[in-house]
Amino acid sequence: MDYGISIWANNNFFIDNKKVKLNYKSKPSLVKIVKEIRDGGIRGPILLRFPHLIEKQISLIYENFKSAKDEFDYKGSFNAVYPLKVNQYPNFVKNIVRIGEKYNYGLEAGSKAELLLAMVYNGKNSPITVNGFKDEEMISLGFIAKEMGHNITLTIEGLSELTNIIKINKKRYGQTPNIGLRIRLHSSGIGIWAKSGGINSKFGLTSTELIEAIEMLKKENMMSAFTMIHFHIGSQISEIGPLKKALREAGNIYAQLKKLGASSLNSINLGGGLAIEYSQHKDEIKRNYTLREYANDVTYLLKDISTTKNVKEPNIYIESGRYIAASHAVLVAPVLELFSQEYTQAKLKLKDVNPPLVQELYELYNTINSTYAQEYLHDSIDHMNSLLTLFDLGYIDLIDRSNTEILVNLIIKKAITLLKDKGSKELLQIQDMIQERYLINFSIFQSLPDFWGISQNFPVMPLDRLDEKPTRSASIWDITCDSDGEISYDKNKPLFLHDLDVTKEDYFLGFFLVGAYQEVLGMKHNLFTHPSEATIEINDDGYEIKNIIEAQSIIDIMEDLDYDTKEVVKTLDDKIKNSNLIDNSAKKDILDEINMFLNDNSYLLS
Ligand SMILES: *Cc1c(COP(=O)(O)O)cnc(C)c1O
Repeated sequence: MDYGISIWANNNFFIDNKKVKLNYKSKPSLVKIVKEIRDGGIRGPILLRFPHLIEKQISLIYENFKSAKDEFDYKGSFNAVYPLKVNQYPNFVKNIVRIGEKYNYGLEAGSKAELLLAMVYNGKNSPITVNGFKDEEMISLGFIAKEMGHNITLTIEGLSELTNIIKINKKRYGQTPNIGLRIRLHSSGIGIWAKSGGINSKFGLTSTELIEAIEMLKKENMMSAFTMIHFHIGSQISEIGPLKKALREAGNIYAQLKKLGASSLNSINLGGGLAIEYSQHKDEIKRNYTLREYANDVTYLLKDISTTKNVKEPNIYIESGRYIAASHAVLVAPVLELFSQEYTQAKLKLKDVNPPLVQELYELYNTINSTYAQEYLHDSIDHMNSLLTLFDLGYIDLIDRSNTEILVNLIIKKAITLLKDKGSKELLQIQDMIQERYLINFSIFQSLPDFWGISQNFPVMPLDRLDEKPTRSASIWDITCDSDGEISYDKNKPLFLHDLDVTKEDYFLGFFLVGAYQEVLGMKHNLFTHPSEATIEINDDGYEIKNIIEAQSIIDIMEDLDYDTKEVVKTLDDKIKNSNLIDNSAKKDILDEINMFLNDNSYLLS
């Protein structure tokens, strides 16, 4: 059982000596890293960041486009920017900027806050692109970025933004940012994220508006600022077809705009959308192209259109975010409990004389073997149904019922072990019936919001014991008090985990490819906040754990919600001091205790 690691892991992780390891330099196991962090006192879920995986993705993008440009003798330049909305956390962004410096990898901003981050962190020689709806303040920020010396392009989403740029340009100090026009294409991506492209999309100028924009720029003598057209057909583009269609459309618009006198126009920005393979199962694979194919298609198509239309080959910009960010982060969370742990032989309370069917279950349990496993299993389920009816009619008592549940559970578990090498369809069905619910110390709302919101699956697997065949069909429960906080067992993409005794061993699950979108989309449902995080730099001899940030303390969470924390602390103190249920001597200890709890994070202590 390799949990589809060959499908989704992109050779970043591999299984060796029972454990999931990083396939880089000293190849440490994830369990070892996590245990070391936990030994430092951090509990609950931990998000691990791996800068070498950011570096890998960035260099792959530049290398593939370089090969494509060489292959087709493409004259325009290749440029990329990282869209901040995908992950704005400082320990990610600072690494992006540091690693991207040698490529002049830039940043893309979609809001005032993101633009300010870009103005702080973007490298001197790297481009900044700005998308999204802009008011006069945001446009002024764009001008300030230009005045500071940044190479910035403001992409306008509608004509009113252009009107504002023209107005602000008159008031400022002579430096105009580059202007990009977002074009509204007929083509759009497919899949759950495709809404950002297409003729009905939220963004972009129609052909009529494009012509009008050109006229406005000409009239204001600002044509020299218009350098870029932009489109973005959606995130997680699983098939290359729609992108090629969009490129042809955009390439022709580019050539037309050049003919209309856009003499400074020299760039096409393709937006983001490069897909990540999240699937753990062969028949669920979604992405039908590679980065190489993407780079080749983009370069070839733009070359072809430019040659046909006799225009200079445009500089290429891409804004892929998911592709860069997803793989760098792994969430590791401990299992707190298995809900059917109570079904052990030790819990049986057999009487001297049991109802005949219970007695028979007991014998099935003791004599089941591989030849008769399936038959005994059917019998036991039959008996259970009869016994439950007898209970409803008042013929057997609660102890008999408990014995029934335990015995049937034990028989099913034994049968699964006996049948496991036969791989029958039947076995899958049985496993569906006795799902084990694993309670995990994390919040799905906080750490996998796209699972909650749009049923996006993320690869999940245990980090250890990978030499043993897991036999429990697992559903995963988080610790929120919300029934949506569950990844239920799905027999089309089954998850099997190991049987375990949580009182005796740690068992960690890794959730992979969570570095894009999940962190900032995460919700504080039940006041579970961003998990503790650490950055892991792997070297030839081992690794270094850097920038450990513990999940927010409860008192800080309250402060974030604008509670008056002085009032909170004082009220708790007063209630303890004024209580007449305890001795005065105990009060100081209780005060210390509650103070400690207020300064802990809100995850459970495991
Ligand atoms: C969201 C967005 C991106 C990033 O998309 P990914 O699918 O993460 O690559 C790029 N450009 C624009 C304009 C966006 O809105």
